[in-house]
Amino acid sequence: MTATHCPYCALQCAMHLEAGPDGRPAVRPAPFPTNRGGLCRKGWTSAEVLGVPDRLTRPLLRKDRAGEFAEADWDTALDHVAERLLALRAARGPDSVAVFGGGGLTNEKSYTLGKFARLALGTSQIDYNGRFCMSSAAAAGNRAFGLDRGMPFPLTDVGAAGVVLLAGANPAETMPPMMGHLSAPRLIVVDPRLSATARAALDGGGLHLAPRPGTDLALALGLLHLAGSRGWVDHGYLEARTTGFDAAWAHAAAWWPERTEQVTGVPAARLREAADVLGAAARARSAYILTGRGSEQHAKGTDTVTAWINLALALGLPGREGSGYGCITGQGNGQGGREHGQKADQLPGYRRIDDPAARADVAAVWGVDPGSLPGPGRSAFELLDSLGEGGGARALLLFGSNPVVSAPDASRVRSRLESLDLLVTADFVLSETAALGDVVLPVAQWAEESGTMTNLEGRVLRRTRAFDPPEGVRTDLEVLAGLAVRLGQPADRFPADPDTVLAELGRATAGAPADYSGVTPGRLAAGEALYWPVRAGDAPTPRLFLDSFAHPDGRARLVPVAHRPPAETADAAYPLIATTGRIMGHYQSGAQTRRVPELAGAEPGVFVEVHPDTAARCGLGEGDAALVTSRRGTTRARVRLEPGARRDTVFLPFHYAGEQAANNLTNAALDPVSRMPEFKVSGVRLEPAPPE
Ligand code: SF4
Repeated sequence: MTATHCPYCALQCAMHLEAGPDGRPAVRPAPFPTNRGGLCRKGWTSAEVLGVPDRLTRPLLRKDRAGEFAEADWDTALDHVAERLLALRAARGPDSVAVFGGGGLTNEKSYTLGKFARLALGTSQIDYNGRFCMSSAAAAGNRAFGLDRGMPFPLTDVGAAGVVLLAGANPAETMPPMMGHLSAPRLIVVDPRLSATARAALDGGGLHLAPRPGTDLALALGLLHLAGSRGWVDHGYLEARTTGFDAAWAHAAAWWPERTEQVTGVPAARLREAADVLGAAARARSAYILTGRGSEQHAKGTDTVTAWINLALALGLPGREGSGYGCITGQGNGQGGREHGQKADQLPGYRRIDDPAARADVAAVWGVDPGSLPGPGRSAFELLDSLGEGGGARALLLFGSNPVVSAPDASRVRSRLESLDLLVTADFVLSETAALGDVVLPVAQWAEESGTMTNLEGRVLRRTRAFDPPEGVRTDLEVLAGLAVRLGQPADRFPADPDTVLAELGRATAGAPADYSGVTPGRLAAGEALYWPVRAGDAPTPRLFLDSFAHPDGRARLVPVAHRPPAETADAAYPLIATTGRIMGHYQSGAQTRRVPELAGAEPGVFVEVHPDTAARCGLGEGDAALVTSRRGTTRARVRLEPGARRDTVFLPFHYAGEQAANNLTNAALDPVSRMPEFKVSGVRLEPAPPE
């Protein structure tokens, strides 16, 4: 029996893996503070992904996109990739090759991928799919606190609070064991949908505020206005620990409840009630504000999260025991994935790539001249959109991501990928993106290799290898090591052993904001709760900011932010707003979960959730096939009626591919700070689908 953690979301529930009576891998939940022995349906069935019938065990290669893939041996495949990359680099320069990573990769892989791009390829063109998840909260957290550790306190703290405001998060479906921490507090849920979490809030005597999609920044300003006018602002805390309240307040002052109602659609009386419930709990130092993707995935996502942080600071919540602000990270290693260098603008340790001191530190560990390191590259969508006929890189190496399903404006991304000279994916199956490419490298899954993950609290965890990978399969680290040597790197520069990489990662992050220098396999195996920063010999830091925030003056910043409409609003041609999200049965692009029979059986295809009156107006009823069309594409979905839905809004889960892909609809308008696309607001029309 091997103790490890779930392959999916950022809760990183603990589990045991063992061979079941039939010899197949079996999962048992394990006690751990975040999941308290619970697992969701995805976790329970996660071992089934190891043995899916279409698991790849040999590299696939095709020299002509019109042709079929043929199996190849590893040397042939890696030699072919290296030759093509070297030829491209010689002809067009290092930025002709791009790398795209994922928020599910271990810390060791995230680190190695960034190092591989900058040393072995010399390219600046690397980013990852976490840009589509947590980048707005990361940018807002850095701006406000000087540091971004999504949840700067243990999740168990939240369960002791009197009130928790959840803005744009639906943990009842996305990470159900987390609801065990939310059963005692009174919940205020901000979500255009009557989600499972909103229902739980109402059932528990809490509140559900359902703003028009794209107006939650105005809602947060309205609540800040009410906090000020009803006497809940903690001026002593603001004076002692923050700067910027007056400027932030100037933007909130005009958001009186009736105006906020007019813009958001949330009744003024409900706003007053929410402000008083939250304010009274804040006065008792017993309130948390937590944000999720619903706040972030907008062309103003950074400012929207900032508005929630401003409210939290005005109420005196962050940096005190019993209260706080946190971001609920989504992907399994969403936190660690953004800290170790696979992001376009960062080096390991969560340091900027244009910071001369950081470049010198990291270059010394890597044994290279700092001047040889490339500068910042393009953000995720901009990188994907620049590929091939977009005028950017001509080759892409893809690890841990399936952007044909998960990126916004999916058909545009697909056409860019199809126009590449070379597309190489490392995956365990022929994903929708891998199927477009030239080379597919079969790689191990989470239970077949060891490594560390950083969960939503910033706690570093160890995943332990429980089973051998199938014969013919390699780990991502082995693939990168094999390619690096073929690209002319010294044989020992890219180790494939995860513990060796972790030790190097520790040296490369020593003294950095995300300092992992004290993270060792021994401390992790001993069960130490290693919240970063973890310096050698130091006690870890479960709660940040108790004495001071991370800006040089020790103060948090309230940043003035103003509401602005979403990039796209409803009009005569597209009279409804589509918003997207996750459901219980599937995870991200669905590449894993759509292959698990129990999960696929429960949620076999995409649905569009719609109010019965809206559906009737469109000539649709429960279960009907519908076409949802935006300016960018169409999704074919089954109608699911929801009387609690807003009449102007429809919802689609984004885990499905092809004509069922919700990202056929979504808008790639980008946040100016985080470069997050506006997944949450697309103008659409809804109509009956013709028979197939
Ligand atoms: Fe836990 Fe998330 Fe895995 Fe579900 S998917 S078992 S909530 S880690």
